[in-house]
Amino acid sequence: MDYALPVPATPSLPIRESDARFPVHRIYCVGRNYAAHAIEMGHDPDREEPFFFQKNPDTLVLDGRFPYPAQSSDVHHELELVVALRSGGTDIAVDAAQASVFGYAVGLDMTRRDLQAQMKKMGRPWEIGKAFEQSAPCSEIVPASLIGHPEQGAVQLFVNGELRQDGDLNQLIWKVPEMIAYLSRLFTLAPGDLIFTGTPAGVGPVQRGDRLRGTIAGVAELEIEVV
Ligand code: MN
Repeated sequence: MDYALPVPATPSLPIRESDARFPVHRIYCVGRNYAAHAIEMGHDPDREEPFFFQKNPDTLVLDGRFPYPAQSSDVHHELELVVALRSGGTDIAVDAAQASVFGYAVGLDMTRRDLQAQMKKMGRPWEIGKAFEQSAPCSEIVPASLIGHPEQGAVQLFVNGELRQDGDLNQLIWKVPEMIAYLSRLFTLAPGDLIFTGTPAGVGPVQRGDRLRGTIAGVAELEIEVV
């Protein structure tokens, strides 16, 4: 094949205990999936239908450095369990969904909250608040063959050593298989897709120089510095 321009590299993530890398296809993100976070953002915590937005795969950050983005003075951390798919399809049944999971990771859905709030108010799409450059720091992928499929475990974010977000995977409103099934009715899921599964309460602003350490018990750890 002859291309008119250089072909962009495939974004990918390292895999624990493997020399192979995980090629990333799409990044789906789920909103308001922990009741306490829905409440802190001013919404009803009842089990309303899940909703989704996307980030582009080339917004993944792997080198531990998160550059404070342009056009915002209120950039928030959202620590999230990330699900990495080995297979996809449409209309996946809840019972069959777990078999499509390759593994899990710890991710940060970094958010220009001021721009997101403006877009919400105007009823416009969220991309400028959510899908900016390097908005998706992510850890290595940990295969389910090593850790199974975690359904509980502390989800904690520390900023400069101070605990800011503190939740548990057992508080997810929509469970991982339900999210996969739901998404697969709206999109054709594919091998290499990532799903950011929503954040627990305690989101807040970051500043240049902050060191963020996110941990999900039984999964992995992610450290970044805001530069
Ligand atoms: Mn989020």
